[in-house]
Amino acid sequence: MKDIVLLGSTGSIGTQALDVAKLHNINVTALSAGSNAELLISQAEEFSPKYVCIDDESKYRDLKSALSGKGMEILCGKEGLCAIAALPCDTVVNAIVGTAGFAPALSAVTSGNRLALANKESLVAGGEIITALVKEKGISLMPIDSEHSAIFQCLTGRGENKPKKLILTASGGPFRGYTSEMLKSVTKSQALKHPNWSMGAKITIDSATMMNKGLELIEAVWLFDVLPEQVEIVVHPQSILHSAVEFEDGSVIGQMGVPDMRIPIQLALTYPERCPSCAKPLSLFDVAMTFEKPDEKVFSCIGLARSALKKGGNMPCIMNKANEIAVGMFLRDKISFCEIPDKIAWALENVSFSKTVDYDIIVETEKETEEMLN
Ligand code: NAD
Ligand code: MG
Repeated sequence: MKDIVLLGSTGSIGTQALDVAKLHNINVTALSAGSNAELLISQAEEFSPKYVCIDDESKYRDLKSALSGKGMEILCGKEGLCAIAALPCDTVVNAIVGTAGFAPALSAVTSGNRLALANKESLVAGGEIITALVKEKGISLMPIDSEHSAIFQCLTGRGENKPKKLILTASGGPFRGYTSEMLKSVTKSQALKHPNWSMGAKITIDSATMMNKGLELIEAVWLFDVLPEQVEIVVHPQSILHSAVEFEDGSVIGQMGVPDMRIPIQLALTYPERCPSCAKPLSLFDVAMTFEKPDEKVFSCIGLARSALKKGGNMPCIMNKANEIAVGMFLRDKISFCEIPDKIAWALENVSFSKTVDYDIIVETEKETEEMLN
């Protein structure tokens, strides 16, 4: 791996991707962020990329003047993001959060770039489009999401053998074991405390509602070309077994490790090579592993994702956007925790359904979902 374009460099995955780049002397050709100009500037000073892009156009001038005279090209907005995603490079790392990650993901694969994808939302909204392009261009799409990285690793070396079942593990989030009644009074600060992982705010809330597992179910169906019924969600509170695959002969192959995203991020960059990483080694003497069924009555988001996937078309896109909007409202104290699934269910019933999906339909669906929920 010689060089990467890193989208979303100021976030949880983005900063850890830079740790990996530093450890392995990987050049950073371009960096981008949503609006955190301050951190983006200091990252640009440290990694000397040729291109720096900020989505928030109001920060463009500050960014440009802070980095002037360093030979860097400064870009902004969605156009800038899509332009850097299409630059010639070994791998584009998409660590943007939410639906904003879709257009740059599409730009990366359209231009034939290898894509390391943390941004699961782009596969939920437009998995069909992205995976078709990946096939057409003959490029690799490397999952960064820990569960999907695990499944990818379990499938390596399977030859012609098809998996019988994917076992997608879930930590269960901070409200594991709660009843519906208990969920009614949970607060934002409780929802933002994930037991095992330190992540961005949106995915932390997605983990608390378990919509994260709903999104990952859809992500797995697109990445590994399996039927939704072949994906079993298993709650494993310790997050040591990152996921597993069951084969016809009854063998179950799993991937384990300490919960540290730098492991899957690094593998997405160095694959098929495995290199030393900054993560602690796993000691099986120090962990007890338990497994349980998710409570889909209490965590209704899993069922919403299953039904959106079953109906197909733009339903996963509606669900994805409605979830993003509802999580945003919850984080701004506009709605309660239990209103998140209510908003999503309402959007799935009321936003216009389209059986087919293309880029314009995704844009239109997201716009309509936003207008109807706001
Ligand atoms: P984060 O909020 O910490 O970081 C998000 C990054 O995206 C930031 O750099 C931000 O500036 C940028 N961004 C936000 N809005 C943008 C916009 N409109 N245009 C361009 N850039 C924008 O999020 P995160 O936790 O790093 O998650 C990133 C993605 O990775 C998400 O899709 C998440 O589901 C996935 N993921 C994260 C983890 C994790 O451990 N954090 C694990 C698995 C998957
Ligand atoms: Mg995950």
